[in-house]
Amino acid sequence: MVVVVGGGFGGLNAVRGLRDADVDVVLVDQTNHHLFQPLLYQVATALLPPGDIAPPLRKVLARQRNARVVLGEVTDVDPNAKTVRIALSTGTERTVGYDVLVLAVGATDSYFGHDEWQRFAPPMKTLSHAVRMRSQLLTAFENGASTDDPQERRRWLTIAVVGAGPTGVELAGQIAVMARRTLRDQFTEFDLDDVHIVLLDAAPDVLPPFAPSLRDHTRRVLEGMGVDVRLGRAVDDVDATGVTTRATGSDDATRDRLDAGTVIWAAGVRAAPLAQRLADATGATTDRRGRIVVRPDCTVPGHPEVFVIGDAANLNDLPGIAEPALQEGKYVAEVVRARTSGRPAPGPFRYLDLGTMATISPSDAVADVRGLRLRGLLGKVSWAVVHLAFLVGWRNRASVLLEWAWMLLTGRRSQRVILRGEVGDVPARSTTP
Ligand SMILES: Cc1cc2nc3c(=O)[nH]c(=O)nc-3n(C[C@H](O)[C@H](O)[C@H](O)COP(=O)(O)OP(=O)(O)OC[C@H]3O[C@@H](n4cnc5c(N)ncnc54)[C@H](O)[C@@H]3O)c2cc1C
Repeated sequence: MVVVVGGGFGGLNAVRGLRDADVDVVLVDQTNHHLFQPLLYQVATALLPPGDIAPPLRKVLARQRNARVVLGEVTDVDPNAKTVRIALSTGTERTVGYDVLVLAVGATDSYFGHDEWQRFAPPMKTLSHAVRMRSQLLTAFENGASTDDPQERRRWLTIAVVGAGPTGVELAGQIAVMARRTLRDQFTEFDLDDVHIVLLDAAPDVLPPFAPSLRDHTRRVLEGMGVDVRLGRAVDDVDATGVTTRATGSDDATRDRLDAGTVIWAAGVRAAPLAQRLADATGATTDRRGRIVVRPDCTVPGHPEVFVIGDAANLNDLPGIAEPALQEGKYVAEVVRARTSGRPAPGPFRYLDLGTMATISPSDAVADVRGLRLRGLLGKVSWAVVHLAFLVGWRNRASVLLEWAWMLLTGRRSQRVILRGEVGDVPARSTTP
C-alpha cells in the first residue's frame, strides 16, 4: 500500500506515475481538488472562476483503478508502526497503514515570527484565500465609493502587496489592470487613477531569482502601470489600518507609515506543519524554512520507505516552485515501480531546470529559460503556453483561454462577485485608526 499525502504538483504526479504499478495507492488531501497555484492571483482579481484552476482529485484520478482518494487532514505519522492518522471531514479519525509513504504537503505562509500580522495581511496560498481576497479587494473599492471623507477614501483605495517575488509582482500588476481598465467608468465617486497600489519588499530588487535585465524591465513596466514599487523596506508592523516599514537593516528612525485598506501578504513561505511532525518522529533534519533535508533519492534518512517531495523537502536546495515538485513526484513513482517489480532502483534524482517565469501585465511577462531571456509579448506568449500546458484538464484550459481572450478584448472580468460570508471571514479593517 502506497499512501500519498497531498494532491498538489508533487503528490498528484507520484500517484499518476504509479498508474500501471502493481500497488494500491491512497491519496489523502485536506481539500477535494488539485490546485494550480500559479494562477491563484487571477482568481483573487476576479478574472478566473475558482473551479478553472482546481479540478476535483476524484475526477482527475477517475480512470486510475489502483488509486483511491480520501478527503481528510493527516495529523500525524508514526514511522515505527508505519501508519498515518487522518482527521476526516465527518469529525472522526482514521488510522491507515502504509508500506510506502510519500509526503507531498507543500508549503504554508510564514510571517517571520509575527503570526499576529496574518489577521490584517491575509496570505494567498489556497483557493479559499484567493476567493476571500477577491471579496476583500472588491469591497475596498465599494468602501472607497461609500465614504465622503477624502482621507478615509484614500486609505480604502490604497492596496499594499508585501513581497516582490513572482506572486507579489503578478498580484500588483493584475490589481492595477483591474482598477484602471476593468473598473474604469464604473465608479463615478472617484478617479480610478487615484487607486494607489504599493509593492513592498525588504530586498533591493523585484523578482530576486531572475536576471538583472529582467528585474529592471519588470520594475519599469510596473511603474509604468502606476504601481508604486518600494524596495529595501522591511515590514515592521501590520495593523487594522495599514503597514509600517523601515529601511532594511536600519533602526526606528527610518520608520514609514502607509495607511492602506488592504494589505496582502505574498512574502515568506515555510513547509506545511506535517513536515515538522515527520521530522520529530524520524529525527530528520529540517532547514530554516522547515523543509525536511532528504537523501538524493528523496527518502528520509534511515527510512527508505518514506519519501518527502516538493515544497516540503530540501533536496540540494532546489527552489520552491512547481517543476521540482512535479519531477520529484514522477521520480518517486519510478523508484516505487522499480522496487515492486524487482528491478534495480534508478540513480539519484536529477533535476532538469526548465527556468522561471512571471507575468507583469496582460501583454508582458518575463521568462528566464536556461539562459534564454524573454520579455514583453514574446515572454507573455511563452508564459501563457506553459501555464495552459501545465493546467490539469482540457475543459479548464479552454475556459481559462476564453477568459483571457475576453479580458484582453474587452477588459471585462466575469467573476466580480463579493461573497458576504467570505468578507465576514476577513478581519474587519477598521475605519478609524
Ligand atoms: C500564489 C502562488 C503562486 C505561485 N506561482 C508559481 C509559478 O508561477 N510557477 C511555479 O513554478 N511555482 C509557483 N508557485 C509555487 C508552486 O505552486 C509550488 O512550488 C508547488 O505547488 C509545490 O508543489 P507541492 O506538491 O510540493 O505542494 P502543493 O502543490 O502546495 O500541494 C500540497 C497539497 O498538500 C495538501 N496538504 C497539506 N497538508 C496536508 C495534510 N496535513 N493533510 C492532507 N493534505 C495536506 C494541500 O491541501 C495541497 O493540496 C506558486 C505558489 C503560490 C502559493
